[in-house]
Amino acid sequence: MLRLNQVSAQYNMLNGYVKAVDRVHFDVKKNEIFGIAGESGCGKSTLLKVMYDLISYPLEISHGSVEIHSQDKNGQTTIHTNGSIHKSWWKVISYVPQGAMHVMNPVARIKDQFFDAISKYHDKKDKKELQAEITRYLQELELPPEVLKAYPHQLSGGMRQRVLIALATFLHPDIVLADEPTTALDVVVQRGILTMLSTVQKKMKNSMVIVSHDMGVHYQITDRMGIMYAGQMIEVGPTEQIFNNPQHPYTKMLIHALPKVGDNSQKEGIPGTPPSLREPPTGCRFAARCPHAMELCRISDPARVTVGEDHYASCHLLDYGIGGGNHGAAYLT
Ligand code: SF4
Ligand code: MG
Repeated sequence: MLRLNQVSAQYNMLNGYVKAVDRVHFDVKKNEIFGIAGESGCGKSTLLKVMYDLISYPLEISHGSVEIHSQDKNGQTTIHTNGSIHKSWWKVISYVPQGAMHVMNPVARIKDQFFDAISKYHDKKDKKELQAEITRYLQELELPPEVLKAYPHQLSGGMRQRVLIALATFLHPDIVLADEPTTALDVVVQRGILTMLSTVQKKMKNSMVIVSHDMGVHYQITDRMGIMYAGQMIEVGPTEQIFNNPQHPYTKMLIHALPKVGDNSQKEGIPGTPPSLREPPTGCRFAARCPHAMELCRISDPARVTVGEDHYASCHLLDYGIGGGNHGAAYLT
């Protein structure tokens, strides 16, 4: 459905480049929720912008490509690549940005925000017909149609987020991207948003990509996920495998730091901080914080290794089959 092909992206700042995304490579399949996890500043949001083709100065793609394979009603496949993906916004791919309040127009009613966003992509030119269809869709998602008359500030944070999700999915896009959809909401509201996202995905059988720093979000709704560290995707696999059989030392530490039911021991975070993305170190970017770091780690980049079915990680321990599980590690070609 969506493929990132060794993509690198950077911010061209006055005093040099910030290399926010470095040779990221993965696929998102049809009919799945794919999660992207990692600490703040690791490049997750930039990666979403790259997928959405939301590229404007100072952000630029310096290497690689993004491809979307979409099928129309007649089964005809169209390939959209970065630079042209923006022509298919709303219909093929849509985006729920972070911070529902900031992205809405504060002086326009929700109804008008829908019209502005959608009318030029929709075949129904008649405003009444379109409004009836929007109302029906909101009801389908269990949102009260009265929200259409409201201004953004009259809605709760959770309701604004629901409205944004409704807007982004109204035209049944093949891919929906959501950046930290539950941040700044309380736990009960968060759960409601996650349920809504997974209900919509099940209904449409499309693909969703959810960025979140919260591993709990991934555990609850994603099918597969990728872990980012300092601009790189260091492990990708089925969510169940990431939680139960993590292979990269960073992923292991992330999982280990999660609170578990019945365990009241104090959990420690991962000591140290990620490297600067202005001048990232050579070799493994996690080396300064990794308890297993070897000489080799500071010299050469670990390659991506297949560690299980549909499960990859980049670490020198895996190159030699000395870390992780009892699989024979094989290079990915
Ligand atoms: Fe640690 Fe080396 Fe693996 Fe990096 S490559 S995660 S430093 S063992
Ligand atoms: Mg972010």
